[in-house]
Amino acid sequence: MNRESQLASRRWKIAYSYACTCEPRCDWTKVPGRHSGSSGTFLNDGEEVMGGQVAAMIVARQFGHVDIADIRMWQETAEERDARLARHRHEAADERRGVHWAMGGAN
Ligand SMILES: [Zn+2]
Repeated sequence: MNRESQLASRRWKIAYSYACTCEPRCDWTKVPGRHSGSSGTFLNDGEEVMGGQVAAMIVARQFGHVDIADIRMWQETAEERDARLARHRHEAADERRGVHWAMGGAN
């Protein structure tokens, strides 16, 4: 699979809630002491076949998240994929023009 078709495929995302280990503890979370992580994280190719539980463990380890629960795994819709590709093209065009996003990025 080349890079273009890889980008164009509908990717899998995973989301889960996890324990807040921040110091001091965040006081803005909906569930006290837990972050929801609802927007989801993209999985790497093939991780979805391992199932949500295993894939979530891999992602959580990367981010240092502990005590994960409420695992959800889903494939982005064609519309979400198109929006992601449009964003990607936009960013690539900006990069060619030498625009850098060191500050104020979309977090
Ligand atoms: Zn926190």
